[in-house]
Amino acid sequence: MPILVMKFGGTSVATLDRIRRAAKRVGREVANGYDVIVIVSAMAGKTNELVGWVEETSPFFDAREYDAVVSSGEQVTAGLMALTLQEMDIPARSWQGWQVPLRTNSAHAAARIEDIPPENIKAKFAEGMKVAVVAGFQGISPEGRTTTLGRGGSDTTAVAFAAAFGAERCDIYTDVDGVYTTDPRITSKARKLDRIAFEEMLELASLGAKVLQTRSVELAMRYKVRLRVLSSFEEGGEDAGTLVCDEEEIMESNVVAGVAYSRDEAKMTLTHVEDRPGIAAAIFGPLADAGVNVDMIVQNISEEGHTDMTFSCPVDQVKRAERAMSEARETGEVGFKDLVADTEVAKVSVVGIGMRSHAGVAAQMFKALRDENINIKVITTSEIKISVLIDRKYMELAVQALHDTFGLDRAA
Ligand code: ADP
Ligand code: ASP
Ligand code: MG
Repeated sequence: MPILVMKFGGTSVATLDRIRRAAKRVGREVANGYDVIVIVSAMAGKTNELVGWVEETSPFFDAREYDAVVSSGEQVTAGLMALTLQEMDIPARSWQGWQVPLRTNSAHAAARIEDIPPENIKAKFAEGMKVAVVAGFQGISPEGRTTTLGRGGSDTTAVAFAAAFGAERCDIYTDVDGVYTTDPRITSKARKLDRIAFEEMLELASLGAKVLQTRSVELAMRYKVRLRVLSSFEEGGEDAGTLVCDEEEIMESNVVAGVAYSRDEAKMTLTHVEDRPGIAAAIFGPLADAGVNVDMIVQNISEEGHTDMTFSCPVDQVKRAERAMSEARETGEVGFKDLVADTEVAKVSVVGIGMRSHAGVAAQMFKALRDENINIKVITTSEIKISVLIDRKYMELAVQALHDTFGLDRAA
């Protein structure tokens, strides 16, 4: 039997009624002749609630216990989905990550998948089971502890299963009917893309577009998984949703494919840092060890042997960053005057493979922001993207202005 992977996100399993609706879709694919692997997220809002409980209990929590808590949401939906399918007379059972086993490394809260032995589930398919419901987001470390794959990680579970089982397709069912030129919640002018290149999706995801977890796109690209994003609420035909595919499979595309944003950023500046060889290592080493995900980095010109070093990180990691830096100062690893945190910033980015061959995108971006009187605090670029850090209160405005200036509401 050909295998299909169907992943249902939090809003798609938010209530028993929605689980039933999702199960009906699964039933249809079973009727179409597929053995189906269903990957489920926790019910909408559940993971946030669990994370909140952990943070309230222990601000600098032990990540192993964080994983023990936050992985529980998926356990519930996997069981409920299996029960719902059984009620529809579809042979189904649930699997927790450790039961598969979905093996990961030991990087708790951001674990990477290492192996998914398919034998266990394949044996059940051979016995006549039609649907394997797998709890997304979770796995087991070499030490035998439950791990999670980072927020949005069920997407990655889904793609990894599609690769491990050689699935015909990996369908990601969510609350939008595909990948848009920007988050449709920010502007009604956002346009659904029929296709998007892996590389563009990878950048959009890593720059904040929540619709797919970055790692899932990486895996799909590497293992040539046919990845589709579609609505769990609307019915669509064979070509519904958005196909994430190779660049060569796309005929026409805009220079800029999309605009992404990341709302909860912080800009941290270490002032009066000694400017000497090894200073970046002395700063960013301890930050990495403390689990701070540093993104943009700017070092100012130095005066009389001292400089300012600015970096950005997620706003919820500011405390960790402050602690790591004050410890590094105490041990004499790094000398600085102050650590100034600006916790009211957001990152807005434009992405497009067309930027490789088109000059002037950065200039046009900066002009559009100037026209809205938005001050740019930090800029970074790569071959196919440009990102700026701005005041958070202007984030929506910036996204809309960039969407307009690059004409993203119209197809190329
Ligand atoms: P799920 O719970 O199904 O995993 P997510 O909330 O993780 O869903 O992702 C879907 C959301 O991603 C949408 O509701 C939308 O607000 C947001 N999003 C951000 N950028 C985009 C984009 N470019 N295209 C589509 N959705 C986007
Ligand atoms: N429930 C997890 C989260 O909210 C994983 C997922 O939904 O993909 O991050
Ligand atoms: Mg998600």
